[in-house]
Amino acid sequence: MPLESPTLSAFSDPNLHAQGLFIGGDWLPGGGIPVMNPSSADLLAEVADATAADALRAVDAAEAAAAGWRATPPRQRAEILRRWFTLMTDHAEDLARLISLENGKALTDARGEVAYAAEFFRWYAEEAVRIAGEFRQAPSGAHHILVDHDPIGIAVLITPWNFPAAMATRKIGPALAAGCTVILKPASETPLTAFAMARLGAMAGVPAGVVNVITTSQPGPVVNAMLADPRVRKLSFTGSTGVGRTLLAEAAKTVVSCSMELGGNAPFLVFDDANLDAALDGAMIAKMRNAGEACTAANRFYVQSGIHDAFVAGLTQRMAALKVGPGTDPATQVGPMITTKAVTKIDRLVRQAVAGGASVTTGGAPLPGSGYYYPPTVLENVPEDAEIAHEEIFGPVAPVYRFDTEAQAINLANATEYGLAAYVYSRDLSRALRVGKGIETGMVGINRGLMSDPAAPFGGAKQSGLGREGGVTGILEFLEPKYFAVNF
Ligand code: NAP
Repeated sequence: MPLESPTLSAFSDPNLHAQGLFIGGDWLPGGGIPVMNPSSADLLAEVADATAADALRAVDAAEAAAAGWRATPPRQRAEILRRWFTLMTDHAEDLARLISLENGKALTDARGEVAYAAEFFRWYAEEAVRIAGEFRQAPSGAHHILVDHDPIGIAVLITPWNFPAAMATRKIGPALAAGCTVILKPASETPLTAFAMARLGAMAGVPAGVVNVITTSQPGPVVNAMLADPRVRKLSFTGSTGVGRTLLAEAAKTVVSCSMELGGNAPFLVFDDANLDAALDGAMIAKMRNAGEACTAANRFYVQSGIHDAFVAGLTQRMAALKVGPGTDPATQVGPMITTKAVTKIDRLVRQAVAGGASVTTGGAPLPGSGYYYPPTVLENVPEDAEIAHEEIFGPVAPVYRFDTEAQAINLANATEYGLAAYVYSRDLSRALRVGKGIETGMVGINRGLMSDPAAPFGGAKQSGLGREGGVTGILEFLEPKYFAVNF
């Protein structure tokens, strides 16, 4: 169904345009949820608004497809995923423009996301045929232990708006490789990418009902209805820690297996012996990929006293030089925030920090005009008890704090309920690894500002999540081990 929007009809492949619910291989028309262009605050499209009854129809479709998909040989599942990877790669530019339009991120970031997102299909195409079991003698020597894996069952996948393609493929890839059928509920702000990907999935040969996509303005009741259905056995959620907590409580009622990829508050530690230029390069990536709207985004910069002033000067210079503009403008390096609400939150955090004694070295206030723009901002002398040190900023603001000793740096890094990612810059690899071991996060970048890799286990400790996505372990989230006690 082509979109009426003149902006979207400019795509090279009109087949990518969809706005209805995708259930059982059919596109069901509907509207009601506005999708905005954050770069201009214009309406881009309207997508369908699913009710709880629609969601249960999606569960019916996933159930109807489940036995066939589970019985599909792993090699065949792998080949479908591999074709989906190829189709995403072939349509990379259309997908990148679509992401840029509905999310606002700069085209370069959107292109990076499409490549990253597609890799999850390639990786899990490769993993689908390598699901290993176990066979060993019991310690008593009296019998054997055989462990096989079953697909866990129907999976509900819920994704955020900040990586509209990658957060979906990071779940769909392992779920399909494991033999599960799924219902994807993308974020209301960025549903068009999910629908476009569903189109490509159908072209790749994903059978009807294996992947269903629904959008809704009532995520709570609609998702709860699916979790209450005993046929649903898995919830894989990426989003805020607050919504994650609510969903864990809801899933407890039917003891649904949960994987949770939640919020972050990443510390970025720079020691005196770090290579300053490398640390600044890494800081720019860790802070500014996606304009700061990333769960792994550096949220707190802790810099040792000896290098502090040079780091602040270098970071200020680089941040001030970035070009802010509409996501789809090829010259743009920093796109808008997702909503005006996001800008208001960032503004509040910066104002509070400044009121508490922080000083602004660049940026520091929302930009006027249409679209939801906040400029790259650096704050120094930020008090450690400022709210900005404890809340996810999710924007292009870099608060810099000073530290003196290694122990102090580790304590500061751990002074948060979050535990997703951390970054350490030092030329002394022993120290970097020692500090990394001391930090309570699921991921540590050592002299690297970018850690996302489809081949690595992505996920958080503490209140940043449960389970891992990507890598060899990601598929286990969608498998139920089955133990046979064997005598022979
Ligand atoms: P969010 O508000 O938690 O929303 C995430 C998803 O949950 C959306 O699809 C949303 O639907 C849905 N949702 C909201 N309330 C719900 C409810 N009561 N029941 C079921 N679903 C519900 O998060 P966001 O603002 O979109 O995304 C930003 C957050 O995601 C940040 O905290 C970020 O750190 C985190 N994140 C984590 C990772 C990771 O891998 N750890 C990766 C990316 C992002 P609607 O859009 O319709 O509200």
